[in-house]
Amino acid sequence: SRFERYFLMNKDDVIEYVKEKTNLFSKDSVLTCEEIGDGNLNYVYRVSEAKTNTSIIVKHAGDVARISDDIVVSTNRINIEANILQLQAQYAPSLVPKVYVHDDIMNCFIMEDLSDHEIMRDALLSYKIFPKFADDITTFLVNTLLPTTDVVMDHKEKKKLLKKYINPDLCEITEDLVYTEPYNDINNRNILFEPNKEWIIKEIYNDDKLRLEVAKLKFDFMTHAQALIHGDLHTGSIFIKEDSTKVIDAEFAFYGPIGYDVGNVIANLVFAYVNGVTFHKTEFVNWLEQTIKDVLDLFIEKFSKSWDEYVTDIMAKEPGFKQWYIDQILESTAGVTGLELTRRIIGLAKVKDITSISDPNDRVRAERICLTLAKKLIKNRDTFKKGEHYLEELFHAL
Ligand code: ADP
Ligand code: MG
Ligand code: MG
Ligand code: MG
Repeated sequence: SRFERYFLMNKDDVIEYVKEKTNLFSKDSVLTCEEIGDGNLNYVYRVSEAKTNTSIIVKHAGDVARISDDIVVSTNRINIEANILQLQAQYAPSLVPKVYVHDDIMNCFIMEDLSDHEIMRDALLSYKIFPKFADDITTFLVNTLLPTTDVVMDHKEKKKLLKKYINPDLCEITEDLVYTEPYNDINNRNILFEPNKEWIIKEIYNDDKLRLEVAKLKFDFMTHAQALIHGDLHTGSIFIKEDSTKVIDAEFAFYGPIGYDVGNVIANLVFAYVNGVTFHKTEFVNWLEQTIKDVLDLFIEKFSKSWDEYVTDIMAKEPGFKQWYIDQILESTAGVTGLELTRRIIGLAKVKDITSISDPNDRVRAERICLTLAKKLIKNRDTFKKGEHYLEELFHAL
């Protein structure tokens, strides 16, 4: 077989692979294959059989990133993703795609085709409203995060998982792109929107207090092995339709701070919100205000309730400990929200919510709203204790 040693598969290879290596289609089936990936790193193929109207998705890792040959990342990331998807399926079965096949030689896995859903960032760019989103995503967060912490999981089991999901290459990408480069452009990879350049140099690069707080957050990310986090939970990693939410693309998963996941969700809702404000989409903007608030408040409520039900560690049951633990998650959530808001404006990887704003004055304003809010979130992160506090600062920044 050609598939006993890794190589980067093209469409024809993928068809042959699926026929030869899986039982998903019969050997004489007529299959078509298209590449549908839009991410920065991987190849995503849809393989379909017209006769039976069935299709599956093959996600496959190359040894350099699609976005840049300079980014060399271990192909093992695809195995991390396949494994964690199966773990998440135990904790939050309705909120992730089903995995059918996992192959750690060819560095690919085969999953359920979610093409009846839409990538949430795209849906938000058409100003669609999803009333169930806050409820679904907070269930995903609480149900996947709390059970993998030391307060719930057996400590030795936890350490086994910690070792399995150490993920140094993908963590390095985050450390560089989120926690370092936006504040000093050390690798010359930042992309500043020209009319905002001077403002950004003054307000971000030259703000010593801000950089100190980012440094603290960076070492929290690297050393706080709190829970098995998704690690890349932006709206491009969420498939959505009216009655269903599915979280995909967990290749950045590792043991890190819970606030990293929660903060990424919030920040990416803020991008959609700022776009909605720019184009005067009143109903959409109102829904997002409610949703930003609900994500925070429902997260706290569900986390607190699950804590009472599932915590096992005896010391974690000391009165006052739960509140301390939640406060510390909220502080990290605010910090990370600010970091994600900043890096998507200043750093290499942009978001369409902002870059699609074509009027330069509107774009300048949109970017400054995000960065003004971000600075507050990072510097005063211990003051963001509930959804309302985020909205207050967001309104100030407008
Ligand atoms: P990357 O790691 O390269 O960002 P993603 O997992 O985010 O890859 O997938 C990239 C794109 O491929 C998604 O935005 C989506 O359009 C498509 N895709 C990924 N998984 C599925 C799936 N299970 N069903 C349908 N389309 C998918
Ligand atoms: Mg992706
Ligand atoms: Mg990815
Ligand atoms: Mg902390």
